[in-house]
Amino acid sequence: MQIRLAAPLQSDSIVDGEGIRTVVWTQGCPHNCKGCHNPSTHPFDGGFLVDVDQIISELKSLDNQDGITLSGGDPLCQVDACIEISKASHELGLNVWCYTGYTYEQIMLNPKQKRLLEYVDVLVDGKFILEQKSYDLYFKGSRNQRIIDVKKSLETGNVILVDKYKDEKVLDDSYHKPEYMFI
Ligand code: SF4
Repeated sequence: MQIRLAAPLQSDSIVDGEGIRTVVWTQGCPHNCKGCHNPSTHPFDGGFLVDVDQIISELKSLDNQDGITLSGGDPLCQVDACIEISKASHELGLNVWCYTGYTYEQIMLNPKQKRLLEYVDVLVDGKFILEQKSYDLYFKGSRNQRIIDVKKSLETGNVILVDKYKDEKVLDDSYHKPEYMFI
């Protein structure tokens, strides 16, 4: 199986989730957020193809990483490859964060995308909204985005935020509802 990437694996990141992380920069994103910092990652025929096995071997060779971060681009557009990488990461003792322009509620309505959530520990969801941009937020660019504890959310059927980030104010919660309700 192959995955289309925008850039090689980036290890030792401290800004793409908690701890020291290796980022998988997926290529291809349909969201077209105004003010996106990575427009070169949008075309689905851009970047380059890599064997997932090669990514996993590179992950095995790295030291001192706490986890991986699926970013992009939008990883939810390459679910099968991201599942394989996430499974292998867990076997290596690495936790998995995933950034996506889809909301949790949208993902829950898409059976294929929903499968990836079983292998993700933390989801940072929602499009980047320029009007809600802030430099005061941890690990996200705009206030509408949420840092979600995926396991607890799947168990309860509600969006449960990671405890330490849940007090960050969401300015416009209408973005998440009502059109995207849980199934
Ligand atoms: S989801 Fe992320 S990569 Fe895609 S357009 Fe929005 S900010 Fe850019």
